[in-house]
Amino acid sequence: MITRFAPSPTGPLHLGHAYSALLAHDMARAAGGRFLLRIEDIDRQRAKPAWEAQIYDDLRWLGITWDGPVMRQSERLNIYRQTLERLWENGIIYSCTCSRRDIEAATSAPQEGAPLGPDGIIYPGTCRQTGAHRPGRPLPDTAMRLDMKRAATHCSFEEICDQHRGVHQITPQQMIDTVGDVVLARRDMGTSYHLSVVLDDAAQGVTQVTRGADLFEATKIHVILQKLLELPTPAYCHHKLIRDENGKRLAKRDDARALSRYRAEGASPTDIRRMVGLG
Ligand code: GLU
Repeated sequence: MITRFAPSPTGPLHLGHAYSALLAHDMARAAGGRFLLRIEDIDRQRAKPAWEAQIYDDLRWLGITWDGPVMRQSERLNIYRQTLERLWENGIIYSCTCSRRDIEAATSAPQEGAPLGPDGIIYPGTCRQTGAHRPGRPLPDTAMRLDMKRAATHCSFEEICDQHRGVHQITPQQMIDTVGDVVLARRDMGTSYHLSVVLDDAAQGVTQVTRGADLFEATKIHVILQKLLELPTPAYCHHKLIRDENGKRLAKRDDARALSRYRAEGASPTDIRRMVGLG
């Protein structure tokens, strides 16, 4: 069994991250498997070296050890680009010049609100024809969207944790209706969370993706991409989210719950385990 923790160094780790990392780490150790670390730093505007350093420090303090070298997404931009070129040549992605405002304008229905998918408003398809692959034309400097009609196939994945436990079937129609043409490469990044996470989990040989239940819907996109790119589909453990006393899930900017804050106030790693229900 190989699992991982994949934080973005865009803020302090909080109790929710501690839970995710400890859970994945404990499961790997209990199974005699491997626990890997990946730094998801594709957002060059928001990722900071100081946050990355703090991640290593917090994890070590928690008693977490990771196996092998740390993977950093910022060092894999070539891999993401090559994959996009392949998808472009196969006519599975198209370039999109729509701004958020264009999309809102194109989808505004007076009666009902625009349909929402895991990434926000389901894209109405404005650029699907105009942005499609032209032979000989290089990958243009725009956002790239997945043509879901062409990409989606029947597939499934296994959920092994908490409330979604079981096998989940995915149908092309469901993907077209509830997800749509998601962005696979942002113009400012040259990739996206979805594309990078799929390629990296495969490159690291991950057999179990352990992460928060907030990413459950995004997993359908990942499974479609795995099929498209001929990569194995791992098992998924989408765990409960750690919430504050008002039931709100913790956010990166919620500094009050930052691990470093608890550390400074004298909490021990055992206290943290107890606070997240792993004590
Ligand atoms: N980098 C993501 C985050 O920090 C987690 C992605 C994942 O586990 O798939 O929220």
